[in-house]
Amino acid sequence: MEQPRGRAKPPRHLADLSAEERTAAAEALGEPAYRVKQVATHYYSRLVRDPAEMTDLPAASRDRIVADLLPSLLDPVRTLEADGGTTRKTLWRLFDGALVESVLMRYPDRATICVSSQAGCGMACPFCATGQGGLERNMSTAEIVDQVVDAAGTMARGDIPGGPGRLSNVVFMGMGEPMANYKAVIGSVRRMVSKAPDGLGMSARNITVSTVGLVPRMRQLTDEGIPVTLALSLHAPDDELRNELVPINTRWSVHEAVEAAWDYARTTKRRVSIEYAMMKDINDQAWRADLLADVLRQHGGGVDGWGWVHVNLIPLNPTPGSTWTASRPEDEREFVRRLLAKGIPTTVRDTRGSDIDGACGQLAAAP
Ligand code: SAH
Repeated sequence: MEQPRGRAKPPRHLADLSAEERTAAAEALGEPAYRVKQVATHYYSRLVRDPAEMTDLPAASRDRIVADLLPSLLDPVRTLEADGGTTRKTLWRLFDGALVESVLMRYPDRATICVSSQAGCGMACPFCATGQGGLERNMSTAEIVDQVVDAAGTMARGDIPGGPGRLSNVVFMGMGEPMANYKAVIGSVRRMVSKAPDGLGMSARNITVSTVGLVPRMRQLTDEGIPVTLALSLHAPDDELRNELVPINTRWSVHEAVEAAWDYARTTKRRVSIEYAMMKDINDQAWRADLLADVLRQHGGGVDGWGWVHVNLIPLNPTPGSTWTASRPEDEREFVRRLLAKGIPTTVRDTRGSDIDGACGQLAAAP
């Protein structure tokens, strides 16, 4: 019989636990507190989860301890590779049958895992594949962390062409709206940045949280004191079009979202990224490039020589059933030229993994 989804909680995992909860978990196991630290070292530092490799744990209770602290959360259903094996998309089945995807991308100078934070998404952006199916459920902290630990292990073992390497970057640009699952997402970020053996010891600036612009949550993130990189998915500089492309805009307008992004940049001194998927004849007109620059230039002028923002143009990855396509090259060039002319740093995102439906907005998790 099919398991009803979204009822039970994912199994409790080491990555879900606070320091106090770790102590309680050790007590419940009838083990000394340092056992949890030993398991944490295996998980976060050695990137292993096979009890057979944890020879410092007592042989008799090893399996029981690991089953309790590191229950299996992500079951790989399928892996697809592109770009000579340096892009790898994995479809995962969660404990309740929900499906999510993550994408690992290795570049000469870095390796990035694009993680999911929700099964499905409730934001309903019409150009995004994930947005079409609605929200299934939030993921737990450990379900998010485990995608990162898996990728770190894949890199460390040299399973991606290029030899053993280190996972350097995390982007919350897979399935879901991270700011709509705030508590679990922040919990997972804390595990990523905490020093071993409490976490992966990654740099917060190498973690990018991307949002449609849930303004109260952006402000909460500003106060959090973890200097992650913030990306705002703007896609239009005017409310009329953005209401259509990013429906939550009817709740928090372009102005409110950009102002919250500016406050984030000002407070954290981290440059914010504005995501803009280039859609042919929809949002790629020259006048919209000018308007976008003007909207962004309303902020930051007082900070001498400090560019608070940069624009990341994403060639639209067409999704099944959508009539929208990527911009013409000449329109894209003109859009870039106008932003640069108004002093806005602008880059065009590469579209790794588009042939395996692993590029931005294509994650739909069909089994
Ligand atoms: N919910 C978050 C994370 C989503 S995915 C957010 O919206 O920011 C990360 C980025 O991919 C977002 O900027 C999103 O708008 C963009 N995206 C979604 N569908 C896309 C598509 N079909 N082509 C290009 N970019 C897309």
